[in-house]
Amino acid sequence: MHTSYSALDTFKTCPLKYKYQEIEKRKTPKRVEQVFGTVVHSALKYMFLRDPLYPALDEVINFYTQKWKEAAEKIEWKNLERKEAQEKMYFEEGIKLLENFYKKNSPWNFNAVELESRFQINLEDTDTGTTHTLAGFIDRIDKDPTSDVYEIIDYKTGKKMPSQEMLEDDLQLGLYSIALKDRWPALPANRIQTSLYFLKHNEKISAVHSDEKLERAKGRILTIIKEIEKRMESGLFEPTPGPLCNWCGFRPICPMWSHEYKNKEERQAPDEAEVAQAIAEFFEIKQTEETNKKRLGQLRNIILTYMENTAVARVFGSPGYITKSVGERFTWEMSQVKPTLERLGKWSGILEPNPKKLEELLPTLPDKDREEILSAREKKSVVTLKQTKKK
Ligand code: SF4
Repeated sequence: MHTSYSALDTFKTCPLKYKYQEIEKRKTPKRVEQVFGTVVHSALKYMFLRDPLYPALDEVINFYTQKWKEAAEKIEWKNLERKEAQEKMYFEEGIKLLENFYKKNSPWNFNAVELESRFQINLEDTDTGTTHTLAGFIDRIDKDPTSDVYEIIDYKTGKKMPSQEMLEDDLQLGLYSIALKDRWPALPANRIQTSLYFLKHNEKISAVHSDEKLERAKGRILTIIKEIEKRMESGLFEPTPGPLCNWCGFRPICPMWSHEYKNKEERQAPDEAEVAQAIAEFFEIKQTEETNKKRLGQLRNIILTYMENTAVARVFGSPGYITKSVGERFTWEMSQVKPTLERLGKWSGILEPNPKKLEELLPTLPDKDREEILSAREKKSVVTLKQTKKK
């Protein structure tokens, strides 16, 4: 198998993501976190390039600014409304990281022997007799001129720092040490130091991997490769949801998340077929509403007639009972009311004949005028039916 540490790490995180990325070679949109990491790494590489002098801090910042501008255009933003604010936040964060890093790690104080060093090693699985190839890049290799110790440095833009114990067992650093030993076999393990540089904290943590630990790292790498090969035979690459799903570009097609995206898309853009269905359903409901209204009127008449014939005010059925009540309501002869209100300049307050507004207006009128209006009202009986559901 031809693979890399990042592919193995992807498999450990989520076999399905490995399948999408490494086997099906699917591409994902460029996320801002990814672009940020790439641009900061390229600025750090530039910082340690001598031509003939190391670049000054403002040259590094100019380089970073230029690279950011070019790369930011290719970012696919998750939230377009927050695009500008996020872009600014990441850009400024990069400047801060680089300034702090430069102040603590002025390039002329280090002896960087290789930058973005490419490696390729062969690992033999003695159980099966197969040889696997692992390739990758090491961000920086320094050589301390006093102690002759080589230091492998990997820059990290993430926040989380591992414990010293975890670092000594770190598979990525173990692999980098194996790669360096592979290049210079005479180099004893104690002359290779590995470090992770956490840019957000401006802190470096280091470890030395003994020969024993390197052998163990080889064994762990081979175990992961065997597991991948088994999955390739069975075709089973199950999704493993976790916090890293937040940064996974395959969410829209991953069975663990795709439904959420489908729903969102449907809500945002109903298609033609869906609109046609909605129109048909709208008419259907309207028709049912009309039919129901008509039928309710007929039922009302049947019930009222029965109540009048039997002289009862409440009838009972299996779902509940219906009560008849008789109240009083005024109706107004508006053509008669209008001249009075017009004379008083109040007709516009009614706008159109509106009994409710007229009733609100009445108490504000002079007694004589109020009497005149009240004489235009007529009392009528109003019958209402109220249904109550059985408890
Ligand atoms: S979204 Fe999560 S579960 Fe799905 S492929 Fe990505 S990492 Fe795996």
